Parts: sequence; structure tokens; C-alpha cells
Amino acid sequence: MIIDVQFRGTAVLITLQALELHPIVVSKLYEPGELDYHGADFQQSSPVQVKAVAERAGGDIRIHGAISARVRAACDRCLEPVELAVEPDFDLTYRPLSGIPREEEIEVPEGELDVGFYSGEGVGLADLVTEQIILAVPGKVICRSECRGLCPVCGVNRNLRECGCRLPRGDSPFASLKWE
Ligand SMILES: [Zn+2]
Ligand SMILES: [Zn+2]
Repeated sequence: MIIDVQFRGTAVLITLQALELHPIVVSKLYEPGELDYHGADFQQSSPVQVKAVAERAGGDIRIHGAISARVRAACDRCLEPVELAVEPDFDLTYRPLSGIPREEEIEVPEGELDVGFYSGEGVGLADLVTEQIILAVPGKVICRSECRGLCPVCGVNRNLRECGCRLPRGDSPFASLKWE
């Protein structure tokens, strides 16, 4: 039996106890502002949709599913806002931290690279989702591959206007190629 749980407005905590008898299908929508991205340099620009299945894997909690979100970030070259679709799939296994003797080295068996640890009662879905979104947003966002960026002299957006500035000597990207 699979129980389909629609969570609304409450923090979702996935516990081993809840999974004792059967897997749980989780579907949850996070409005912009509900998730804390810990100062990451993008903003969530649409509701985040999460669909996942949580189940017991021995003493561990396995959660797998898909996230669908849109984020807004500044182009690395011209600083104009860029909208990105971020749609990571995930398959994660969480082990209770309390099950690990203190001071013992934590060794993750081979082939279990996606094992994480949780402390307390269970795995918080919001933490899982924020982490997956942060991992999925590229480090450098560029509005388009031929973006010409800002003029380093006058700061004009060179996609919009030709400023005619001459780059100071040595500042040209080709300077090192010249024989002087
Ligand atoms: Zn750009
Ligand atoms: Zn310029």
C-alpha cells in the first residue's frame, strides 16, 4: 500500500516511524520565500514543485523523486536577470546520526555515494529541496553564449549599445598575445 500525502503549509518531516508500514508519496509546493537558500545568489521565481517517494531501506530512509523550480540569477557578464528552469532528480539515502557511535570514522560503503545523515526525528523535506536546488543552479549563469558583457571602462551593457571605449593598454583580453 502506498499512501499519497499532500502537505500544505506545514514543515514536512519524514520519519522512519511514518515509513514503518509503507512508502509515502510526497507532493509539496513551496511558494517563493518559503525556502531559505542560505544567501545563494539567485532567487526562486516560481513555486517549487516536489514529487517524491519516501521509503525504508533497512534502518535508512530513502527519498527519491523530482523537483521543478524556476530561479532568477544575474548574468555573470552583463548582470541582467536570467530566468532558469531547475529540474533536478534525486535519489538519496539518509542514515540516522544517532546510529553511529561517536568518534567512529564514518565510512560510506562503495556504491552508496548518496548517503546522507540526519539528526533528530527525521529528514526535513525543505532542507533536502533547498540543497538539491542549490546544487542544480550552475555556478556561472550566462544570459546567452554570445553575451558581450559590460564595458570595463564605462560600464555600459555592450549587448544594448556600442560605447566605443578603447580598452586601456594591457587590459585587452588579447594583450598577452601581442609581440611588444
Ligand atoms: Zn549577459
Ligand atoms: Zn565603454
